[in-house]
Amino acid sequence: MNANHQLDNSMNEPVSYNNIDDKGYKLGTLAGVIRMRMIRGNKRFWAGDNISEYVTEDNKDRLIDEATEAFEKVLDALLIDRENDPNSKGTARRLAKMYYNEIMAGRYEPGPDATAFPNDSADRYEGMLVVRSELRSMCSHHHQPVSGVAYIGIIAAQKLIGLSKYTRIAQWCARRGTLQEELCNDIAREISRATDSENVGVYLRMTHGCCENRGIMAHDSSTTTSVLKGAFNKDPGTKKEFFDTLSLQESNKR
Ligand SMILES: [Zn+2]
Repeated sequence: MNANHQLDNSMNEPVSYNNIDDKGYKLGTLAGVIRMRMIRGNKRFWAGDNISEYVTEDNKDRLIDEATEAFEKVLDALLIDRENDPNSKGTARRLAKMYYNEIMAGRYEPGPDATAFPNDSADRYEGMLVVRSELRSMCSHHHQPVSGVAYIGIIAAQKLIGLSKYTRIAQWCARRGTLQEELCNDIAREISRATDSENVGVYLRMTHGCCENRGIMAHDSSTTTSVLKGAFNKDPGTKKEFFDTLSLQESNKR
């Protein structure tokens, strides 16, 4: 069964490769068909958006094949001998697989299953929780690595999720093309959704490959961002506790 047929079944809509005026985007590809479906469905598909409802697991092999062909063209345009240079043989496929399965996997995979446990007994936990997560991301502008740590704080609400889930959710948000400011917002939103807590604080300290490896060549530079919601924003005591806790964790960890 080919990937087109599977897409037909999954979307209940006939595939048409050739009758769409698409401003020069290549049709006749699975990526072209999925792209048109997102446009018709008013689905935003920016580098930082999750599009897993449009890409099935079965589509990925074919999408990787298509991306491999496209990366071969890029290498050709860069005048790199991908036939005789042993280090460049297979690079196009390695890039295609890396984008789909690793550095942009958070676009194509549905969110992690964050099973919640009730936190409603008489002696329920009502304090602050601050989780430190190591993150790897990529800037949408230059496709250069962005790496660092996130501190995710919440005031426990009616449900709790496993500690590793905070990091899994943050990594799922990070494994896309992002801007640090947007990534910070995305993590806060998804943590709030998974925990039902309106009181969420997220602090990111990241280094940007696009500032270190090119442009200003700023080695050892870092950028911090924070998003504070609910009590983290409105209550000075909560805000102070969050920043005091993360400062303590930062000074112990670095
Ligand atoms: Zn950049």
